[in-house]
Amino acid sequence: MLNIILFGPPGAGKGTQSSRLIQKYGLVHLSTGDVFRYNIKNETELGLMAKRYIDQGKLVPDEVTNNMVKDFIQRNSNSNGFIFDGYPRTIAQGENLATVLREMNAQVTCMMALQVDEDELVNRLLERGKTSGRPDDQDESIIRNRFKVYNDETSPLADYYNKQGKYIAVHGMGSIDDIFRDLCTAIDQVI
Ligand code: ADP
Repeated sequence: MLNIILFGPPGAGKGTQSSRLIQKYGLVHLSTGDVFRYNIKNETELGLMAKRYIDQGKLVPDEVTNNMVKDFIQRNSNSNGFIFDGYPRTIAQGENLATVLREMNAQVTCMMALQVDEDELVNRLLERGKTSGRPDDQDESIIRNRFKVYNDETSPLADYYNKQGKYIAVHGMGSIDDIFRDLCTAIDQVI
């Protein structure tokens, strides 16, 4: 299995690059943000609960997210592997991912971290908010809160995977095609 974590702050381009990568490498895409938004749209119990956190730019509690991810991975256990987009976002989620994959005799192959300046990110998110309909992209204070959560809770995962020799930094500014090419070059070196 090829299990790639696409990592980076909000607005780094994880969703855009994920959809290209799954096509090229025949992988299953797991975007926890997309799963939450789907549940919010359909007003499920999970969606109603997640919305309270997402609208404030906070993380959905680990236990909820971890259970959802475990279920998703187990339902797709026959696949060639996964692109994890927006997951893990805390060390506890990283531990959960390792456990779930280990039960399938698999593991994280690598974490590819998109590097983008914060000013560029805020502009991208506000721009996306004009058309995406996402409330969390339309308010600069919510965006700033998401960065704070990212810096406090999510960024330590870079070190966590670096210590396992799985961390790969990829330049995330420039054209979508150029970034995609760099990601593919990095993946082709580890498979
Ligand atoms: P972005 O990375 O651009 O902020 P996402 O679609 O990945 O967008 O996530 C949107 C929101 O969904 C996050 O701000 C958070 O509230 C929630 N969320 C997504 N993934 C997770 C996760 N792994 N753990 C907890 N909350 C999450």
